[in-house]
Amino acid sequence: MSATPTPNIINGASAPAESGDARTNVNPATGAAVSQATLNATRAAEDAVQAALEAFPKWAATPVGDRVQPLFRYKTLLEAHVDELADIVVSEHGKTKPEAIGSVRRGIDCIEFACSAPALIMGQSLPQIAVSSSFCRTEDEGGVGIDSTVDRVPLGVCVGITPFNFPVMVPMWMWPMAIACGNTFVLKPSEKVPLSALRCTELAQEAGLPPGVLNLVNGGPDVVNHLITHDDVRAVSFVGSTKIGRHIYTTATAHGKRAQCMCGAKNHSIIMPDANRGAAIEGIVGSAFGNTGQRCLAGSVVVCVGDSADWLVPGVVEAAKKMKVCSGHEPGVGMGPLIDEDALKRVHHYIEKGVDEGATLALDGRTADMPQTGWFVGPTVLDHCRPGMAVVEDEIFGPVLSIMREETLDAAIATVNRSPYGNMSVIFTDSGHAARRFKTNIGAGMLGVNVGVPAPMACFPFSGWGHSFFGDLHANGTDAVSFFTESRVMVQRWL
Ligand code: NAD
Repeated sequence: MSATPTPNIINGASAPAESGDARTNVNPATGAAVSQATLNATRAAEDAVQAALEAFPKWAATPVGDRVQPLFRYKTLLEAHVDELADIVVSEHGKTKPEAIGSVRRGIDCIEFACSAPALIMGQSLPQIAVSSSFCRTEDEGGVGIDSTVDRVPLGVCVGITPFNFPVMVPMWMWPMAIACGNTFVLKPSEKVPLSALRCTELAQEAGLPPGVLNLVNGGPDVVNHLITHDDVRAVSFVGSTKIGRHIYTTATAHGKRAQCMCGAKNHSIIMPDANRGAAIEGIVGSAFGNTGQRCLAGSVVVCVGDSADWLVPGVVEAAKKMKVCSGHEPGVGMGPLIDEDALKRVHHYIEKGVDEGATLALDGRTADMPQTGWFVGPTVLDHCRPGMAVVEDEIFGPVLSIMREETLDAAIATVNRSPYGNMSVIFTDSGHAARRFKTNIGAGMLGVNVGVPAPMACFPFSGWGHSFFGDLHANGTDAVSFFTESRVMVQRWL
């Protein structure tokens, strides 16, 4: 099995991959080799930082209205390439084609938002913040007015480290706003899906980004560690698992960098007995099994209140059984494969562990009707789960739904809040009172009422809490503008 080593893009040009350790990636639905990513390309990482450093002064001095012009052109180019990019995502990641198209579109939303940088990075001013009576004028003569302003200025070289599960969208949470704010950027995509980021970066060069403004370097931990400790890197934006995010956050900040780390999750959905049954079942199935459960916003635990499990569990099982499990390119596909063999082994392990720990296997994805090649497992439902079970505590990152039961809403809220994560939580109910009590008491940053996934929007921050986020300023929204800029205050007195 072989594939061509994926090149880097440094200083506006394709740079061949360094020789060294490499990961070969296969199409998760077919097993055919699709790419190779070099793992320890620290020389390329150094070249990328130097290119970004050299490009920074000129780019930072470029008027913001001019900086966003390539992004407008990029948006138009992306619109023309949605299908091509979605096909790359399907073949290297395994998403279904509709999921892949949706993810590219959410990426385009981020470009649109970054195009509004001229309005977003405006500073503030407060004239006549004080009056000075010294020097030429006394206070009786009116004194000398003192004015104060705050500007938002770029930081310098910023770095983005991204996960495998949204290979087009997640990088676009980072670099478009970073460069619109006047920074230059080095993107290190997941070594599991290098082709999506490569094509997106090629298109960004085609859109007219000056050389060095956006650089792409492939690699694994060595490359990441080189970047996050580099003296010339000012900020690090990371999306990935909690274990790695904690390492990135502590290392980058200890080296004086600003860091934001959007991390792993274990998300709970509360079902009230008064919920609209059809909407709840549809929402839970979409949330737990969409993207084959490989989503930081996957609702992988359901807490049924009162007797709601009586209709929710059979409804979810019936709907999940109807999902066609196959390659993301096939018509009518409901769920594609997992990313790789390790992921499949992990999911099998957790299903076995759930059963060992006393859960009831209401639907076993290991025996689903699915292709025999590729990393497939069907939707799985484990019922009668209890606090402390591994399937309730750990992020499985696969299509495994754990069902718990509680007598009251308050008990359900307490169960949700026991999780150290806090990425998202939703409630299905017809009661405004229950929804308000949920909103007021749940310890998570992304909340939903009667929606399966409170999806991130480019113009709002992605607000994970707890072990789902390390940092202060979140991705997207005006948080991203603050993250990628420094505030500079000036106090003026003209004598
Ligand atoms: P991962 O943590 O394994 O990898 C993420 C990035 O970190 C990759 O670029 C990888 O090369 C790098 N990396 C891996 N090991 C490293 C190490 N030892 N040292 C330095 N860098 C290292 O995550 P993944 O498996 O690619 O993605 C899935 C995870 O991402 C899940 O936990 C999911 O919840 C999370 N995620 C979170 C969000 C969010 O917004 N909170 C969004 C998407 C995915």
